[in-house]
Amino acid sequence: MTVRPESDSAAATRCWCCGGGFPESELVRLGEHPEMGVCLRCARWLRRRAVRQRDELRPSVTGMLRGGVHVVRKAVVRRGWHERGALGVFLRWLDRYLP
Ligand SMILES: [Zn+2]
Repeated sequence: MTVRPESDSAAATRCWCCGGGFPESELVRLGEHPEMGVCLRCARWLRRRAVRQRDELRPSVTGMLRGGVHVVRKAVVRRGWHERGALGVFLRWLDRYLP
């Protein structure tokens, strides 16, 4: 009986942010480090985080509006409204289009 080495493909489909397993089509690979990939959900989270950080470094009116959206989003999540039936479905749909 031969021992098969652990498959690299299983590790290659792990999100480097949340650790979840995803098909290759749902991962975004990093430019200089293609061995690292993040899932689409984490990529969106990272983008929002980067934009928030940029807004803090360079304050602007649009940055303040994005900050307001972020405060409302945090309040919705804290209250659990995003998990409430039809309201939750609507809020999660709406969140896809917000900055
Ligand atoms: Zn992820």
